[in-house]
Amino acid sequence: LYVDHPLGAGQSVPLDRDQAHYLFGVMRLAVGAAVALFNGRDGEWQAEVAEAGKRGGVLACVAQSKPLQLPPDLWLLFAPIKKARTDFIVEKAAEMGAARILPVATDFTNSERIRQDRLQAHAVEAAEQCGGTYVPEVTELQKLAALLDHWPADRQLMFCDEAEVGQRLFLDSADSGAAAGPWAILIGPEGGFSPAERKRLHAMPHTHVVSLGPRILRADTAAVAAMTLWQHTLGD
Ligand code: SAM
Repeated sequence: LYVDHPLGAGQSVPLDRDQAHYLFGVMRLAVGAAVALFNGRDGEWQAEVAEAGKRGGVLACVAQSKPLQLPPDLWLLFAPIKKARTDFIVEKAAEMGAARILPVATDFTNSERIRQDRLQAHAVEAAEQCGGTYVPEVTELQKLAALLDHWPADRQLMFCDEAEVGQRLFLDSADSGAAAGPWAILIGPEGGFSPAERKRLHAMPHTHVVSLGPRILRADTAAVAAMTLWQHTLGD
């Protein structure tokens, strides 16, 4: 269970109404029952139900069962698309071990609004589902151009460029030499990237322009394919 509360030996964790409903109403747990907790920062802790009520309750931390396992330092930058597909991208990115998920507005982005809190909740659910101890941060929507203005000098960028179709698959042996350190993957919107964006991205140092194969993939498919290729080549 995810809780937004510090975890540690002897720590009491208060439960809100929804959590109490889930644990005591749906899961039918009673006082003394064991629950595994994580908060994305302190690893996984075994806890016991100390108080159980309809509107709340308290869990008492007993012992740490897993240390915090940080994913590789990989960001996923993507242009939001239709709501359900954007949800899918965030969920899969969290499952596949992105350290940070950054929605970006590009020249051809068709969706200019996101609900960051909803997307963050999807990332939490995905981390819960895969037994992770880490939850990637989902940032607010920001302009790709502004992000590139302050691009960290040490972060490699895997630029998935649909115009490179059939050219070169990520990552060849030369790229693998650049394996160490922080990375980011960039996936465009349904309309792809504008000529100005492509020109700028191609000219940036640390950009690795890659093809995801001979077919144009939908953005949500491309995000999963790109993360799979990255994890296969450079992940842990
Ligand atoms: N409208 C664009 C076109 O027809 O050229 C296609 C955009 S595609 C649906 C969305 C994004 O997925 C692209 O911007 C790119 O980042 C990624 N993508 C899809 N297929 C790709 C491929 N074969 N190689 C590299 N990137 C790809």
